[in-house]
Amino acid sequence: MKPLHARYPFLADAREAVEAAGVDLAVLVEDGDPAVDRAVDRVRSAVVERSIGDPTDTRTELLSYPIARVIVSVVDTRICTQRYAQAEASAARERFEDELQPGEGLRSGGEQVALRDVLAEFDLHGQVHARDGPLETAQAYEIDVPAYLTYAADRRADRWRLTRRRVADGRVRIDREDLFGLLEAAVEDRVASGLPLAVPDVLEEALDEERETIEAALSELDLTREIDTVVPDLFPPCMQHLLDRVQSGDHLAHHSRFAITSFLAGIGMSTDEIVDLYQVNPGFGEEMTRYQTDHIRGETSPTEYSSPSCATMQSYGDCVNKDDLCEEIPHPMAYYERRLDDADDDDLDDWREAEADAEESSS
Ligand code: SF4
Repeated sequence: MKPLHARYPFLADAREAVEAAGVDLAVLVEDGDPAVDRAVDRVRSAVVERSIGDPTDTRTELLSYPIARVIVSVVDTRICTQRYAQAEASAARERFEDELQPGEGLRSGGEQVALRDVLAEFDLHGQVHARDGPLETAQAYEIDVPAYLTYAADRRADRWRLTRRRVADGRVRIDREDLFGLLEAAVEDRVASGLPLAVPDVLEEALDEERETIEAALSELDLTREIDTVVPDLFPPCMQHLLDRVQSGDHLAHHSRFAITSFLAGIGMSTDEIVDLYQVNPGFGEEMTRYQTDHIRGETSPTEYSSPSCATMQSYGDCVNKDDLCEEIPHPMAYYERRLDDADDDDLDDWREAEADAEESSS
C-alpha cells in the first residue's frame, strides 16, 4: 500500500493494492478497525460538509475507501450516494491541482504519476491534445468531442455546454482548469459506478450502527437551499395529506401545521405564496399562517426552523399514506427532491407560475 493509493483510492492500482493485501472488509468491521471509523467520517463529511474529512495514515485511508462505498450502499439513498461521489471527486480535483504541477508529475509520498497516466486511467489519453506545449506543461488543450461529452454532459454550469465552446475538426477547445473539471467528473463517475453494491446480509447487519450514524446526518440535512420548485403533485404523501386538510378548512394540530408550513417554506415558498396556497377555503387563518411562517423562517424568531424528519413525523402521527419511495428516504424533503429529480422537465409545472398565468389571463 503506497501513499499514492491512499490519496487516490479510486485508481485501478489502488484497488489492486487492496485486493493484493487480501483484506476482508467483514473482518475489519468485526474487529472495529480504525478504517471503519474513517469510512464513516468520509461519508458523514461528504453528506454534511461536502468534503471527505481529514486524511489519516496510508493504510487507514486506503482501506476506508472500499468500506465507505459499502456504507453508502447500505444507506442506499440517492442524496448520500451523490454527495459522497461528489466529495471524493472534489477532493481528487484539489489534489490534482495541487500535485500535478506542470512538468513535475503527480507527487505523493515519493510516488509520481504523470498527467498522461491520469488521462489513461479514464480512457482520455489520445483524446486530449496539448495546444501550447507538451501535455504535462500545457495550459491550452483540445479534446475529442465524444470524450468531452462523456464527462461534460452532466456538468450543470452553462460554460460546459457544447454550444458555448469553440469546436473545430471534431475537437473542443479547453484550458487546463477545464481539464481538471473533466477529470473531477471522471472521478465522480468512477466513485459512483456500481453503487449501491450488493452487500452480504452479515456485513450489512454488522454495519447497522454506521448506517444509523449516516441516516441521522441525512435527517438533519437542510435540503431547502437546493429546492425552489413547487409541484404539489410531487409532494410526499404526508405533506399532500396535510395540504389537503388545510385547504379543506380542517383544524390542524400545532405540530401538523408546523410540519406543512415549514415544508412549504423549505421548498422556497414565500409567506404570501403559502397564504395563497392555503387560501382555497375562506375559513383558513391567514393571520396565524403569516405569523407561523415568519416565525419558522426566523424573521420573527431567533431560529430558522427546518421541517421535521420522517422519524419526527411518525412520532406525531403525521406520517400517513406511505408509499414505496418512503421506504428509501429519511426526510420528506428528500422524498420531494427525489420525485423532482425523477420527473421529466415537462411535468415540472411550478404552481407559482400557473397561478401567475391564471391571474394574468383573468385581468
Ligand atoms: S415516510 Fe416520510 S415522506 Fe413518507 S409519508 Fe412518512 S413522513 Fe412523509
